[in-house]
Amino acid sequence: MKKLFLFIIFSAAVLANSNLVYDIRGASPLVDANMSQFLDNWRTKTVDPIKSGEYQNVIVNADTTKKNIALTFDDAPDENNTYKLLDILKDHQVKGAFFMIGGTMVDANVTVVKRAYREGHLVLNHTLNHPRLSNLDESGVISQLDQAATRIESITGHYPILYRPPYGSINPLVVNALNAHGLTTVLWSLDSLDWTLKDPDAVVDNVVANIRNGDIILMHRNPTSVAALPRVIEKLTEMGYTFLPLDELLGIKPYR
Ligand SMILES: [Zn+2]
Repeated sequence: MKKLFLFIIFSAAVLANSNLVYDIRGASPLVDANMSQFLDNWRTKTVDPIKSGEYQNVIVNADTTKKNIALTFDDAPDENNTYKLLDILKDHQVKGAFFMIGGTMVDANVTVVKRAYREGHLVLNHTLNHPRLSNLDESGVISQLDQAATRIESITGHYPILYRPPYGSINPLVVNALNAHGLTTVLWSLDSLDWTLKDPDAVVDNVVANIRNGDIILMHRNPTSVAALPRVIEKLTEMGYTFLPLDELLGIKPYR
């Protein structure tokens, strides 16, 4: 009886911990006061409704009890940086998740989408044209995600059910519409700040200083992340973290 009681307490503690929603991190002395304020406001406004349960099915981080983490890259494909990221991931034998823009999957760019999928990375949804979803009505939101997912499916054979909103821009209409469409919103818990810092050393310092168990790391297909990525992987590995594919880290299906 006592054993059972202890087991229940232990399970409850593990469950509570694995469901913990992190505050979103990412900071640098190079980010000015206005930008810091802007980021703080967005992070609070976005994470509070997730913590309170107002937003359902919106992911910030994974299980906080294990030293497992995932790398995610937004805004691919392109003709240059996406290839370089894939080369680095291959060298380091790490699998990433690419939230890709459907509208740029044309002509030669289709090749790099195929390559990402073939090399074991996740090819996920980042809308057709990268709009702020919170500015659109319900049919506009669905159209942006469904058209991109259909294009991805035509290239990889798989319709992604994980999507990331451009600029992290969501509201109740966006979340509810996409939940009803069978899609899960995947945000991030650690912003590398590669989109604003333009300084690979600062990106590495930021990620190393702020990493936690279960973090989902936000990077982009830009030259800053190309330059920072080898050191991000090497330093976090030295610190005892294991990079898992995003679907494995979260224990969820990536494709329909
Ligand atoms: Zn984006």
